Amino acid sequence: MTGPDASWCSSRAGDGEAQHGGQEWVRLKACANPDCQWVYYDGSRNRSGRWCSMTECGDVMKARAYRQRSRQS
Ligand SMILES: [Zn+2]
Repeated sequence: MTGPDASWCSSRAGDGEAQHGGQEWVRLKACANPDCQWVYYDGSRNRSGRWCSMTECGDVMKARAYRQRSRQS
């Protein structure tokens, strides 16, 4: 099974971002939480942020991924 998270990773895994290198707007990202999708400014140095808020959506998505993994049988 490939979930929405997998497609998100594959679309980001390449070096597509390189062609936009140096432009600040590439830091504008949509939150990886499908229930949120808030557009936020990723201020992290390596643009590794995935959520508008690591303490809110980050925790939600981590908990959800954990539940999905533990539920699969
Ligand atoms: Zn969010």
